[in-house]
Amino acid sequence: MTQRTAERQPLFRPQDRRRVLVVEDSKTFSIALRQMIEAETGLKVTSCGCLKDLSSAILRDQEGYAIAVVDLNLPDAPNGEALDWTVSHGIPSIVFTGTFDTATRARIMEREVFDYVLKDSEFALGNLVNSVKRALTNRETRILVVDDMTTTRRLLGQMLTSQQYTVVEVGSGADALAMLEKDQEIRLVVSDYNMPDMDGFELARRIRRRYPAEQVRVIGISSSTDRTTSAGFLKAGAHDFIARPFVLEELQCRIASNAETLLRMRQLHDLAWRDYLTGLFNRRYFFERGPKLVAEARRASQPTSVAILDIDHFKLLNDEHGHDAGDDALRIFAGHLGESLGGLPHLLARLGGEEFALLLPNIGEPEAARLIEEIRIGVAGRSMAVGHLKLGLTVSIGLAEMAPSDSLDLALRKADRALYAAKQAGRNRVQA
Ligand code: GH3
Ligand code: MG
Ligand code: MG
Repeated sequence: MTQRTAERQPLFRPQDRRRVLVVEDSKTFSIALRQMIEAETGLKVTSCGCLKDLSSAILRDQEGYAIAVVDLNLPDAPNGEALDWTVSHGIPSIVFTGTFDTATRARIMEREVFDYVLKDSEFALGNLVNSVKRALTNRETRILVVDDMTTTRRLLGQMLTSQQYTVVEVGSGADALAMLEKDQEIRLVVSDYNMPDMDGFELARRIRRRYPAEQVRVIGISSSTDRTTSAGFLKAGAHDFIARPFVLEELQCRIASNAETLLRMRQLHDLAWRDYLTGLFNRRYFFERGPKLVAEARRASQPTSVAILDIDHFKLLNDEHGHDAGDDALRIFAGHLGESLGGLPHLLARLGGEEFALLLPNIGEPEAARLIEEIRIGVAGRSMAVGHLKLGLTVSIGLAEMAPSDSLDLALRKADRALYAAKQAGRNRVQA
């Protein structure tokens, strides 16, 4: 499987223009919350101090709220009526409350709220802001629910959807494996134990064999009172286990902590393997992953081509327009390369400076030369908005098809020699 060079996803989509609704009668809390939420999420806050304000805010703009933070006791709504308003208008809601007892919990829980946060310590505001952030990031996490019983599967699916996760459901282990193959964005699999075609242990084992733990995590589920079921799941490679019937908060916390671990692992992975400036893979990743792709292509009796791309007179651009403009140009150039390669299997990395390496598995020289020539023409024909300037760039490219006995190192040295020849011949050209 060829690694895709997807750019890092921003925490929140820049086009997300929705607002966060804060319904809170204490001015102090309300102001502090607005400041913290706006600073940490980049979204604007609409504050309402009473039910009357809330109803007019919702009627004004029902679609525009990403999430609501709701105080249960307001002067004109002492019994959680504000929560009824936000929930019935389909706005995911977080309850912020000073009073908490079993009756309050039951009242909150029957309304499918996203979360509740207690005003019980100096950490309350921080906890609340974290909960808001989680509601926004959960949308980016795709969860696969696997259960042969339609009703229990739907129920769990609903619980996770109200947690803002993107949910995909399947009814068997075989369908789960097929779905993982098809939808590579799935990060968490929540699987029942008892299923006719393949039990949860076997599914966990097969997932573990195919996908590294930083790509897909598995959480087992069972209603069995036999404690060895949870041990069995963990031994089979699952990361966690949740007993049925669910305690909603336990389900929420376990899913959230696994999603959080995945996010942290991805961040570490990116730190190690990606170039900070452009978001492309770095030299280390290229030499780690490249030989595996070459070996795969050879096993399938397919050719592999490699190219080195070097921006022309880049030092001049830096000297004339400054280092920041140079950095912008590198980012734009990298983005252009990624776009040009589109869905084609490839490995693209920034080797350093203004030098990039491209590996094309299953593509021999004539086709690679045509493709790379298109990239060169695309770069030369494009002007880049760098600051308030419009700049042009050209790139020289050295290309080599790997001979059957070539190591990746050797093939790159050949491509580098071709690059040198391209520079000598006047730049802005492809040399094989
Ligand atoms: P040629 O056409 O022969 O490739 O000339 P060139 O000027 O592009 O090549 P040279 O290797 O002489 O200069 C590369 C320059 O790239 C020098 C260095 O300051 C600059 N550079 C390297 N890394 C970065 C970076 O991360 N950001 C910026 N802005 N400049 C960088
Ligand atoms: Mg250069
Ligand atoms: Mg150079």
